[in-house]
Amino acid sequence: MKTIGAHVSIAGGVENAPLNASEIGARAFAMFTRNQRQWKSKPLTTANIKLFKENCSRCGYEPEHILPHDGYLINLGHPEKEALEKSRAAFLEEMMRCEQLGLSMLNFHPGSHLKKIEPDACLATIAESVNIALSQTSGVTAVIENTAGQGSNLGFKFEHLAALIDQIEDKSRIGVCLDTCHTFAAGYDLRTAETCRETFAQFDKLVGFQYLRGMHLNDSKKPLNSHVDRHESIGKGEIGIDAFRFIIQDNRFDGIPLILETIDSTIWKDEIQLLYSFA
Ligand SMILES: [Zn+2]
Ligand SMILES: [Zn+2]
Repeated sequence: MKTIGAHVSIAGGVENAPLNASEIGARAFAMFTRNQRQWKSKPLTTANIKLFKENCSRCGYEPEHILPHDGYLINLGHPEKEALEKSRAAFLEEMMRCEQLGLSMLNFHPGSHLKKIEPDACLATIAESVNIALSQTSGVTAVIENTAGQGSNLGFKFEHLAALIDQIEDKSRIGVCLDTCHTFAAGYDLRTAETCRETFAQFDKLVGFQYLRGMHLNDSKKPLNSHVDRHESIGKGEIGIDAFRFIIQDNRFDGIPLILETIDSTIWKDEIQLLYSFA
């Protein structure tokens, strides 16, 4: 079965995320666990935690269908010591917030070398950052999101994802989330069933579907291999509708959160319905 949803708001408290997801007919959802644009955030209260869990069970959401996303300021591959320590501390805090909420995954962007270190050195730093966070937490899997490769962001090649996984000590707590917009912008074609078959075969060969823990379903405003990350509504961008039909009809994407991060949240309900209609 497919579990499709969207990245919903936590305005007013994390406990509102499952309610917002339920309202748009989602069977899965993504959320931030705190303000994603600030370093500091208030700790979760016992009331937040209790209500979040109650609302999830009332709306029928299991942890494996909830994919929290980490904050935008974190760079686990930062080339400078002080900034790296700050990112590592914030990431650990986010892993702990997921633990508190009874969640099993945290989706993160790998990191950027800022043109100050070699990509391989940056990947090693990122892997070390994840190893540190995993050693200090339990029950939460770190889920690497592939990127469009904008600026000096790493994680745009399947080889980057494979290199990261290779350096993670606890392989049972590392996973991958593929964002279709990022995949396409990074140069992997998805415009037809045939190109989808090729791209996902390459992913399976280099990374492996056993690591796939979620998908972000977004069309792309920018062309193939543009390395520019601009999301578009489903079927309205350069990727087109066939990729999404392909994913929904392929059982390798069953049971994992399939999350919309498309630009017009007022049509998420319709987009979710459209996607379910392909099943
Ligand atoms: Zn993301
Ligand atoms: Zn994404």
